[in-house]
Amino acid sequence: MSISRLSRLLFGRTNAPARSTSRERYLIDGAIVEYTLKRSQRRRSITLTIDEDGLRVGAPWRASQSRIDMLLARHAQWISLKLAQWQARRPAPFSWQAGTPVMMLGEPLILTLTNEKSVRRDGNRLCVGVAVNVGDDPAALAKPVIEWLRASAQSWFEERSAHFARVLDVRAPSIRLSNARTRWGTCHPDGRVHLSWRLIQTPPALIDYVVVHELAHLREPNHSSRFWAWVERVLPDYKERRRSLRLDGHRFLLA
Ligand SMILES: [Zn+2]
Repeated sequence: MSISRLSRLLFGRTNAPARSTSRERYLIDGAIVEYTLKRSQRRRSITLTIDEDGLRVGAPWRASQSRIDMLLARHAQWISLKLAQWQARRPAPFSWQAGTPVMMLGEPLILTLTNEKSVRRDGNRLCVGVAVNVGDDPAALAKPVIEWLRASAQSWFEERSAHFARVLDVRAPSIRLSNARTRWGTCHPDGRVHLSWRLIQTPPALIDYVVVHELAHLREPNHSSRFWAWVERVLPDYKERRRSLRLDGHRFLLA
């Protein structure tokens, strides 16, 4: 029970405006549309909003449901269009099944079941042997694919870091894989570099940025202007890459 409701019960009328939130449903063009109804004593008119949480209806405390329904009916077309756009913007939940694209180096590979015993790439398909996929358990498909992604990440990162170590004239570090989702890389003072295996799902240009960033820390263990000068010397467009990684990096990852 909300505090304002409790105080109304205890003390009768209060100055605090009443508010309530509920989930409601409405039928538009044969489809059930769910929305959040927020009633408030402060509100004078009914409003429709579509934001990152979907459709929200704001209504005065005593507005009748039929008044709300009438407004929904009048704006049905606008609501359908906006909700379709909202759905399209939302990242689809990842499902471990044949036909689902898995991102690898920024490109989709279609999960394909085969009767081989291994996982291998064949053009734009990622062929997963059913021998390693026991039954309908989605985790059975996830495990070999993630192992394959990790192995690909290890060799790709080692190759790129050997290349950029020569450019920066530092000793090629030993690369360890982490499982981080947001922290792509860390560089330890003793020269070990940890990179998230998930980075292998993003485009090569973004991987190179993270590799160069971590290797530049072997020159400058801070984020001083001298550090960024090293990064820029190797990747003159590093700012664009850093920006894409921040804005879009997460889009490539498995859920
Ligand atoms: Zn750094």
